[in-house]
Amino acid sequence: MKNVAILGSTGSIGTQTLDVIRHNNDLKLVAISAGSNITLLEEQIREFHPELVAVWSESKAKELRVAIADVQPACKVVSGMDGLLEVSTISSSDILVTAVVGMIGIRPTIAAIKAGKDIGLANKETLVTAGHIIMPLAKEYNVSILPVDSEHSAIFQCLNGERENSIHKILLTASGGPFRGKTRKDLELVTLDQALRHPNWSMGKKITIDSATMVNKGLEVIEAKWLFGVEPSNIEVVVQPQSVIHSMVEFEDGAVMAQLGTPDMRLPIQYALYYPKRVFLDGRRLNFATLGHIEFEAPDMDTFLGLKYAYEAIEAGGSMPTVLNAANELAVAKFLNKKVRFLEIYDMIRFCMDQHKLIPNPGVEDILETEQWVYETIESRWIS
Ligand code: NDP
Ligand code: MG
Repeated sequence: MKNVAILGSTGSIGTQTLDVIRHNNDLKLVAISAGSNITLLEEQIREFHPELVAVWSESKAKELRVAIADVQPACKVVSGMDGLLEVSTISSSDILVTAVVGMIGIRPTIAAIKAGKDIGLANKETLVTAGHIIMPLAKEYNVSILPVDSEHSAIFQCLNGERENSIHKILLTASGGPFRGKTRKDLELVTLDQALRHPNWSMGKKITIDSATMVNKGLEVIEAKWLFGVEPSNIEVVVQPQSVIHSMVEFEDGAVMAQLGTPDMRLPIQYALYYPKRVFLDGRRLNFATLGHIEFEAPDMDTFLGLKYAYEAIEAGGSMPTVLNAANELAVAKFLNKKVRFLEIYDMIRFCMDQHKLIPNPGVEDILETEQWVYETIESRWIS
């Protein structure tokens, strides 16, 4: 039996993690958390009977306590950052799936590692901003960081049995998002609804916008650097519009290993939960005869500046990836609230990266202060 805790159980990755648990008797849910969606939390509590639930807002936590008063055995409801930390470190869990969105995952992830929990890592913003802290810490506490992001799971799968061999190059695949092929002029006019229409994946809103700007692929380059110890100059992004090849690894002898499959996040989630074992997963399978062909192209980094800025941020190092990420988080939130236009997401990132005074080896406090600085910088420049 493996006991699972989830940060962000009401989101896209969180609900798909629960679906994997639902179909496997040897996985047990012990703790969950969400921001404010207590309606879905209540359903999840009644179905899975976790011991502990964290809700970000204390007033929503109060409402949830009343709503589940009849549930037996009783489920404890906690709130705020202390609540997230309690879910992350609960003594009964073996693995924490970090399916929360944004840098808010940093402190809970660090706490879970220190409590000896393996991490099923979906929350890429944590690794982008604090990878230099997380990876050595995981080594020190002898815990596994198991990637859930589909590309990184693919790379992880390609590396099975290759411990002796060094990676020559990572080929990180990208769908290109809903605006592939568009010019900068076209992007001036795109709407929120168009940006939310991803061609292949159904995901949370923030990552869907990140896919449209290609900031997502930029964050993934940084994520890959930390997970696999490969320099960004050896990480090449390849656009593969059908999202059939989830990523590839090229070895020293020129051999390229790839992992393929239909776009279904339950596969990488399940692989992280069962690693190194594979278990049955229902769902669509690849049919190469109907697929016919797989296309490839180079990314357009001059139009989709997200990728270009990410390479620049990781090259600068230190606190710069935090600036990229925090500026993007706030810019996307504003775009989702229709306060700014699509291309202003790039403008906000650029402005903050230009203004920032780099901190070379930031600790957690420096990272959180940099996040705050980014928010203040954007708020004072973009009055909306
Ligand atoms: P969603 O927006 O669908 O879900 C986010 C989850 O985080 C929800 O459960 C939400 O709760 C919770 N949450 C938000 N704010 C807070 C807060 N302040 N405190 C506690 N919980 C909070 O996101 P996704 O599932 O799409 O993405 C999650 C992470 O996984 C991201 O880092 C993303 O980049 C990554 N990822 C996602 C993929 C996907 O297919 N979706 C693929 C690869 C990576 P509530 O519902 O109450 O708001
Ligand atoms: Mg991905």
